[in-house]
Amino acid sequence: MFAFRGVDYMEIDSLFSDEEKLVRQTVREFVDREVLPHIEEWNREGKFPRHLVPIMAELGFYGANLHGYGCAGLNNVQYGLIMQELERGDSGLRSFVSVQGALVMYPILEYGSEEQKNRWLPALQQGKAIGCFGLTEPDFGSNPAGMRTRAVKDGQHYVINGEKAWITSGSIADVALIWCRTDDGIRGFLVERGTPGFTARDIKGKWSLRASVTSTLALQEVRVPACAMLPGAQGLKAPLRCLTQARYGIGWGAIGAAMACYNEALEYAKARKQFDDRPIASHQMVQEKLADMITEITKAQLLALQVGRLKDRGRADFAHVSMLKRNNVKMALDIARAARDILGANGVADEYPIFRHMCNLESVYTYEGTHNIHTLIIGERVTGIPAYK
Ligand SMILES: Cc1cc2nc3c(=O)[nH]c(=O)nc-3n(C[C@H](O)[C@H](O)[C@H](O)COP(=O)(O)OP(=O)(O)OC[C@H]3O[C@@H](n4cnc5c(N)ncnc54)[C@H](O)[C@@H]3O)c2cc1C
Repeated sequence: MFAFRGVDYMEIDSLFSDEEKLVRQTVREFVDREVLPHIEEWNREGKFPRHLVPIMAELGFYGANLHGYGCAGLNNVQYGLIMQELERGDSGLRSFVSVQGALVMYPILEYGSEEQKNRWLPALQQGKAIGCFGLTEPDFGSNPAGMRTRAVKDGQHYVINGEKAWITSGSIADVALIWCRTDDGIRGFLVERGTPGFTARDIKGKWSLRASVTSTLALQEVRVPACAMLPGAQGLKAPLRCLTQARYGIGWGAIGAAMACYNEALEYAKARKQFDDRPIASHQMVQEKLADMITEITKAQLLALQVGRLKDRGRADFAHVSMLKRNNVKMALDIARAARDILGANGVADEYPIFRHMCNLESVYTYEGTHNIHTLIIGERVTGIPAYK
């Protein structure tokens, strides 16, 4: 294995502050030390590296761009660089951190009562509690507005019935944020592990995100106190705003996976010899692939950085984030596929990270708004015409 020194064709490093580069270096070293030596084994076994949860807490990864309650209060570029470096290790690890921070801590901070914030935010930030975000249902993915999970008021309680599907960290979560239909529109409820009627079952047989837990959640007559509802979250806009936070991190994370694949392909192409003892890197068609890869990574880096700077100025909205997520995940998936080709037969072996990244990126392409859905969001922004139906 070679030491990773980053991918920077266009002196993009000069656009980062010293503090931003320091955060990136810290995560880079963590991934080199704690993740890369073991990830293929975890992936093969379908095992989430739970022992890393407190280590990542110690490093301040959870809710790193949030303020208060022990959160690191980093800027959004620093946060993005954390996601980039984590996903250079594995998309599953980045997914865990994204869900914990952007999909559980962010909504509690943004929409929760003071009691909910005090109870959960320090514990989630310190990795003493794990959270999950339950929006998707078996029959409602791209169109969560159709959800069937229902919470019915009964005195000082709500009774929840329904099912959530494809929930990251579902079976290991201490608290699940469950989005439900109510008489008052869509609302979010914090449902604790062990609440009678609430069960989680892991989805087996995934070819993607194997080092991440993905579960189905069943809720049968689950009775929660009325104070389990997030008071400030009303309507579908609330979960969608959480998704905008998480998608922002994904846009950066995808760059990390792309960098890992590009680097591996570049080193391999320089070392692998075919035809008259020449490295395959000397062939024009291989160079074309590498030239395309580095160009696309550079464009993706600039896009992520601009959205990050806009976000720090309060100027990034969901349609900007859609372009970031859509472009960068597609870019990373295309690069993983081209890198796999450059490695020939070795490209399908887990001695190299490329096939794992490629399989992971198939999920990343689908979750948090599929590629198509982000196309429609951008389409609506530029035409003013929604084309979802
Ligand atoms: C590993 C993994 C982890 C996940 N983690 C979570 C989680 O933690 N929490 C959570 O709530 N969900 C999670 N999801 C679910 C994810 O968000 C959904 O899979 C996603 O929203 C897509 O929904 P779907 O799978 O039902 O696909 P569908 O909505 O059925 O879409 C199938 C295809 O149809 C296309 N399509 C649908 N509607 C349109 C349209 N109007 N126009 C054009 N094309 C359309 C889609 O783009 C896609 O190509 C996870 C998924 C995976 C794979």
